[in-house]
Amino acid sequence: MRSFQGEVAAINDNAGDGGFAFRAVKIDDSEGGACAVIGDDDRRIKPTGDPFRIALLSRRVTDVLLVEVGGWPKGVRPLAVSARQKADLVVGRAAWYSFAFFLRNAAAVLLDVDINELDAGVRTTFVDTPEGRVLDVQAFLTDRLENGAGYCSWLSVPENFRALLDHSSVACVDGLAERWTPDDHLNECTASCNKCLREFSNQPYHGLLDWRLALDMVRVAADPSATVDLTTDWGARTNPWKPICAHIPAIMDKLGYDLEAAPGQSRLFFKRGEPKRAWVEDHPLWQEDHELVQVARDRAKTLVPGCVPGLLNPFLLLRRPADFV
Ligand SMILES: [Zn+2]
Repeated sequence: MRSFQGEVAAINDNAGDGGFAFRAVKIDDSEGGACAVIGDDDRRIKPTGDPFRIALLSRRVTDVLLVEVGGWPKGVRPLAVSARQKADLVVGRAAWYSFAFFLRNAAAVLLDVDINELDAGVRTTFVDTPEGRVLDVQAFLTDRLENGAGYCSWLSVPENFRALLDHSSVACVDGLAERWTPDDHLNECTASCNKCLREFSNQPYHGLLDWRLALDMVRVAADPSATVDLTTDWGARTNPWKPICAHIPAIMDKLGYDLEAAPGQSRLFFKRGEPKRAWVEDHPLWQEDHELVQVARDRAKTLVPGCVPGLLNPFLLLRRPADFV
């Protein structure tokens, strides 16, 4: 984590489209000289030239808090930069954005300020590691006010930053984890809602935000040896993934899969009549090298020789069940 005052640049390239199609235009009977993005049926604004693409850039100087996760439990990490499958990138982006907006919520509580005093986001950048420079992801908070209001520099004080991360612990009285894990929210909120991560200003990210992923990301940021799984309870509180995972056998049954479960091991799902098609249930942040994935794959091979199950996680199954047919 580090904090500094710097220039924050935001580019709007129309969702990766290279920008917006501007044209030289005349408005009513004006002389021209204006440019606009217009539709073909606009009656008052007439194009006078060919379209050209422009991305929009805004720049401001303010206080910034950059947060990277220094260490991950073995087999646990979000793939937000490169992945074998696009679906893994979706999970990675969801994890990082949920992490960033969790930090903003917790910061607003700690500072006792309105949430809109801060902006949150993620960026990809090169970071130095023992293996050399690699592309990685960082979350950031910025003060909304030009030249900064001092919030991010206050959050960068080690004990204040620790208090921010403590909001991921159910033992933190009135912390975000303590508020989000009681039964009412636990059973009703399958991804995110306006009681946890959603609010008006992060509307473009609502489809990605997931409070369970956010809590797991912050738990790892607070303690790289944290247990990240679908079953181990968090102290006196239920592991928040359990109510979601309770629905998985019924969903997979409808997709034509039978459940194979063994105590203490990841669940397997085999296609009826075609058992080489199979899935191993995993946590959204687990990767192929997670020990329990490898153990489950070995079990699948023993049960059905030649079977190499794919990875099935509740985050993707609930959003894109067709991927698991
Ligand atoms: Zn919620």
